[in-house]
Amino acid sequence: MTAIGFIGVGNMGGPMAQNLVKAGHDVKAFDLAKEALQKAVSAGARAATSAQDAARDVEVVITMLPAGQHVKATYLGPGGILGAARKGTLFIDSSTIDVDSAREVAKAADTAGMLMIDAPVSGGTGGAAAATLTFMVGGSEAAFARALPILEKMGKTIVHAGGAGNGQAAKICNNMILGISMIAVSEAFVLAEKLGLDHQKLFDIASKSSGQCWSLTTYCPVPGPVPTSPANRDYQPGFTADMMLKDLKLAQQAATAVAAATPLGADAARVYSDFSEAGNGAVDFSGIIRMLRAAKR
Ligand code: NAD
Repeated sequence: MTAIGFIGVGNMGGPMAQNLVKAGHDVKAFDLAKEALQKAVSAGARAATSAQDAARDVEVVITMLPAGQHVKATYLGPGGILGAARKGTLFIDSSTIDVDSAREVAKAADTAGMLMIDAPVSGGTGGAAAATLTFMVGGSEAAFARALPILEKMGKTIVHAGGAGNGQAAKICNNMILGISMIAVSEAFVLAEKLGLDHQKLFDIASKSSGQCWSLTTYCPVPGPVPTSPANRDYQPGFTADMMLKDLKLAQQAATAVAAATPLGADAARVYSDFSEAGNGAVDFSGIIRMLRAAKR
């Protein structure tokens, strides 16, 4: 049994913390939202009174927060958790944040005598509940080795991607592929509709041809071919358009910082930004097909 502090028990962190409780760990949870904290307590966690309290006298601290500014505010500074924890505590940040913030926090953790990994996830709330998340990890070999048995209780695929920040780099590269491919698949279905080609026929052919990809075969943006995809439930998320937009913006921020040309990534960020500004931020990201269908050439 490991004593674990868990900060940020929302849609993702809640079920992740619950899986650690189920695995027999002693979980001390904290969230600014009372309802989220209450849920974690109902699932068997102990309630901490603050982020610092959650980080005190534990062996591992996991954070699952919205964005880079929340992670920096939680870790750094006089009121930060790095100052509250015992030396040698292992910190795991599973939030999706910008690479620079991840590296800044990892450096501060190292200076404070702590171990730290960035370990963003893929797999959504379903994967969090089923403990089948994919973890993309950046950090030292020693920190990765210590984190592995804990991550295995929340995920199925755990890949060490290199030094600090490389987990976040892997996450934004993956989600840039996903954003672009969802738009590509959606455009193909809209074109097929206009050409009089049936959805199922295009699916049957493209899913066995070179157009095959996850956005088509697992998360198909039209109802019918993949019964579990959000298209079959009026695009209820799933993974919201705003979350996709957040990740595409992070990819663009990173691309600008290292002068990488990502023309389709930039286009995808613009398309999702338009979709979100039109009031669709809470719609599943595969709902982008509705905007593309309505668009004028
Ligand atoms: P969420 O908003 O449901 O949960 C975040 C929680 O953090 C909230 O309960 C909020 O009250 C809490 N919080 C915010 N600031 C805090 C602070 N300073 N101290 C303590 N608690 C604080 O979001 P989520 O869907 O659980 O996503 C969390 C992270 O995981 C994000 O970075 C997101 O991009 C990433 N992610 C989400 C999904 C998904 O499908 N939801 C998938 C992969 C990755």
